[in-house]
Amino acid sequence: MLKMIDGFNRIGEENAFTVLARAQALAAQGRDIINLGIGQPDFHTPEHIVEAGIKALRDGYHGYTGATGIPELRTGVAADIDRRLNVDVSPDNVLIVPGGKVTMFLAILMFGSPGKEILYPDPGFPIYRSMIEFTGATPIPIPIKEENDFAFRADDVLNQLNDKTSLIIFNSPANPCGGVTPKAEMDALVKGLEHHPDIAILSDEIYGQMTYDGQEHISMLSYPSLRDRLILLDGWSKTYAMTGWRLGYSVWPDTLIDAARKLAINSWSCVNAPAQWAALAALEGPQDCVTDMVAEFDRRRRIVVEGLNALPNITCRTPLGAFYAFPNVTKTGMGAKKLASELLESAGVATIGGPDFGTLGEGYIRLSYANSVENIEHALTKMQIYLEGL
Ligand code: PLP
Repeated sequence: MLKMIDGFNRIGEENAFTVLARAQALAAQGRDIINLGIGQPDFHTPEHIVEAGIKALRDGYHGYTGATGIPELRTGVAADIDRRLNVDVSPDNVLIVPGGKVTMFLAILMFGSPGKEILYPDPGFPIYRSMIEFTGATPIPIPIKEENDFAFRADDVLNQLNDKTSLIIFNSPANPCGGVTPKAEMDALVKGLEHHPDIAILSDEIYGQMTYDGQEHISMLSYPSLRDRLILLDGWSKTYAMTGWRLGYSVWPDTLIDAARKLAINSWSCVNAPAQWAALAALEGPQDCVTDMVAEFDRRRRIVVEGLNALPNITCRTPLGAFYAFPNVTKTGMGAKKLASELLESAGVATIGGPDFGTLGEGYIRLSYANSVENIEHALTKMQIYLEGL
């Protein structure tokens, strides 16, 4: 009998992929299915980025690169951070990874072990908790509440720190609720964290360029007092509609970059070379593709929120970031997972039940509005017919 390590009794999954498979299977049977489940832009990668990838293939970039990424791209990432956030980062602290997700995998592996506690947002991206459980560390949820517009509250983090805390996972703008933590709350959080210099921080800023209604994205990188223990997670997937290219980057403090590089050497060796050249073109090329996509998400956000609030027994706060709406469905009287499953099977609309993002997700469902206005409106009509028939 084969005996894998205990972690495999605890590791979780991302239900969005299961819902995606089910939605595709129903569509293959000829059903009219609108997929508001998976979180990926419906746009193609901008043409100049695709061209740069093709050119790199034609130019013969077919071999391994250095494990941390090509120097040009690491320098490009540092320049992009300087341009957007006005923060000085050395290319030596940048690691190119095969997808944003990989940074959380590495960081949680580095700081998770039995006896340690890791704080993570609930509701939050499901892989945080799954990986914490895998390492044997104790997952400590940070409550993300509707009454706070789904932003982090400094006290909800600081009140839970103790000698066992090894890592705090922070995410703004956030998946699945679309919350953006305002500057005052960030300042309070950082001030409190200054009293805990031995706790590492992973800041997942993959939606950093997607904020609305004038809401500012405050990067954890902009706080000098955290820099010696901050791991920044970012990448190209959402900003440049590149989910399938499997590209991301992280910025590590001096003390951790070598450990991260060793994990890279021990697992993926290096990221696909032509994709790295495409990523550089994304950062160095015109940025209006990003502003145009974000403007379009903003337009859809208004339509989806207005439409959801017009549905029976559903209320929805206006999300200030990312591309998700997280409506409250408690008044439907159905559990959120059951409702999400019924919406897919009966109404033909794929959404994700809030409990897939943590226990505090009960009473909510997540809709991704990274879909066309036409599809969003069609989905809202289907949902209305279903909910009126309950
Ligand atoms: N972090 C958050 C909060 C996400 O929502 C996602 C993807 O959905 C990721 C990271 C991972 O992104 P990638 O596709 O680049 O691995």
